[in-house]
Amino acid sequence: MAQATTATSRDGTDNHFANYIGGSWRAASSGGTFENRNPANSDDLVGRFAASGAEETRAAVDAAAEAAAGWQRISAIARANILHKAANLLEARAQEIGRELTREEGKTLKEGIGETGRAVQILRYYAGEAQQPSGEHYPSMNPRTLLYTVRDPLGVVGIITPWNFPIAIPAWKIAPALAFGNTVVFKPASLTPLSALRLVEVLAEAGLPPGVLNLVTGSAADVGDPLVRDERVAGISFTGSNAVGASLRITVAERGGKLQLELGGKNPAIVLADADLDHAVAQVIAGSMMSTGQKCTATSRAIVERAVADRFTERLSAAASALKVGDPLRDETQMGPLINAEAVERVSGDVDRAKSDGAQLVAGGTRLADNGREKGAFLAPTVFAEVDPDSHLGQEELFGPVVGVIPVDDIEQGLAVANQVRFGLSASLFTRDLAKALDFVQQIQAGVVHVNSETAGAEPHVPFGGMKGSSSYSREQGKAAREFFTQSKTVYIDPPPASVSNN
Ligand code: ADP
Repeated sequence: MAQATTATSRDGTDNHFANYIGGSWRAASSGGTFENRNPANSDDLVGRFAASGAEETRAAVDAAAEAAAGWQRISAIARANILHKAANLLEARAQEIGRELTREEGKTLKEGIGETGRAVQILRYYAGEAQQPSGEHYPSMNPRTLLYTVRDPLGVVGIITPWNFPIAIPAWKIAPALAFGNTVVFKPASLTPLSALRLVEVLAEAGLPPGVLNLVTGSAADVGDPLVRDERVAGISFTGSNAVGASLRITVAERGGKLQLELGGKNPAIVLADADLDHAVAQVIAGSMMSTGQKCTATSRAIVERAVADRFTERLSAAASALKVGDPLRDETQMGPLINAEAVERVSGDVDRAKSDGAQLVAGGTRLADNGREKGAFLAPTVFAEVDPDSHLGQEELFGPVVGVIPVDDIEQGLAVANQVRFGLSASLFTRDLAKALDFVQQIQAGVVHVNSETAGAEPHVPFGGMKGSSSYSREQGKAAREFFTQSKTVYIDPPPASVSNN
C-alpha cells in the first residue's frame, strides 16, 4: 500500500487527505481520490480523500485485530487518559474544526462549532465512564465462591456513520468503543470525511497505540460492504438510512455479528390548544429547520389541536419565511444549504408530490438561487398545512427543511396519528396540562420524548435511540453504550481445597 506524502493538510494548499491505518497515514493503493465540496458553494473544494477499497479495508481490519489484545489488556484508566487528552486537543481546535465542519456539511457556524464542542463533551464523558464499575458481584450457593460478572470488549468493531453529524456521531460511537477496550475500523460518510478525519487526528495525537483506531475513506460499496462482511469484525454500529439498515440486518446477522442501528424518524410535535403558541412555534421551527431539517430527530409533523391549528400554522409559516437562508459561514445566517444538489432535487420532488396529494403549501417550497446562493444547494424553509397523515408527506422522512401541519380533534386523535408511522425516534408535546403530558409520555411510541421542547434535543450523557423502525432496540450514548460495545462474562472463583490430595 502506498505511503501518503502528507498525513493531513493544514496549510490550505495541499488538500489531499489520507487513510489512517495501523498508526500511519496512507493514500489508497490505487492512488485514487474523491472530492469533498462545500454544499453552499460548489466551486469550493474542501479536499480530496483516499478512494479506498477492499484492500485498505482488509489492512485496517488486520491492524485492528492485531492491536485488539494489547488494547484490551491496558488499564481502563490508561484508556481514559487518552480520551481525556483527545478531548483537550479537540477543544483547543474547536473553532477551526467547527468551521471546517460547516464548510463541508452546510449547517450554520453556531451549529458546526456547537457540534464540535459536543464531541469534546462526549470524549470527556467516556473518559469518565471507562472508570465506572463494569460488572456485578453476586452471592453464591457456595459461601466461599467469589461470583461476579465482568464486561469484555467485543474485539474489533466497525463504525459506519452518516454525513449529518459528521463529528458528533463518530465521537459517540468511537469514544465508548475505545473506552471499553475495543479496536475500531471507522468508515465515515463520503460527503463529510474531513470532520471524521479531524476526530481521528486528535485521538491519534493523544497517544492511541497503532491499529487501535483506523480510518478508511471511500464508498459504501468499496469500503462499507467489505467492512460489514469481514468475519473478524465482531460488531457494527451504524447510523444512516432505513434502506441500508435493512440490508445490514441481514448481512451482519447472517455471519453472527452484533449490530447496532440508528435509522430514520418521522417525528411528531403535538401542540394542544392550551400550549404557549409562540413557544411551540419557536420550538417547531428549531426542530424542523435547524441543520436544514437534516437530523434523524427533526420535527417533520406538527400535529395541532384544531382549535388553534390556523393560528399556529399562520405563525409557523411567518417564522419559517423570516429565516435568513444563506452561506452558513456568515454569522447572520439561520439556515444553510442541504447537503448537495441531489438532495435539493429529491426534496423538491417530495414537495411536488405533497402538493399533488392535496397538502396546502403555505411557506417555501422553492429553490433559492439568488443573492450569493447561485452555487449552493438551497431550498426555502417549507411549511404545509392540511397534511393527510396517510400521505407520503405524512408518513415518510424527507430529510429536508419541510414540516407538515396535521390538524386533529384532541390529544387522543393526536396520539393515534403520531403513532401511526413505521418510525419511533423522538416526539414532543406542547401543553400546560400535566395529566395530558403524563398520558403522552406513557402512550407515545418513541425512544426520546420531550414535553414543551423540540424533538431534536438529545444530551450526550443519557441513552439515545428509537422504537419501531428507527432502531434495533439497542441504545447509544450515556451508560447504554456499554451494553453494545461489551459482552458479559460470568466468573466463579473457588479457593483450592485446603489439603492437597492424589499428587
Ligand atoms: P446517509 O445518506 O444519511 O449518509 P446512508 O445510509 O446512505 O445514509 O449511509 C450512511 C453510511 O453508511 C455512509 O457512510 C455510507 O457510505 C454507508 N453505507 C451505505 N451503504 C452501505 C452498505 N451497504 N454497507 C456498508 N455501509 C454502507
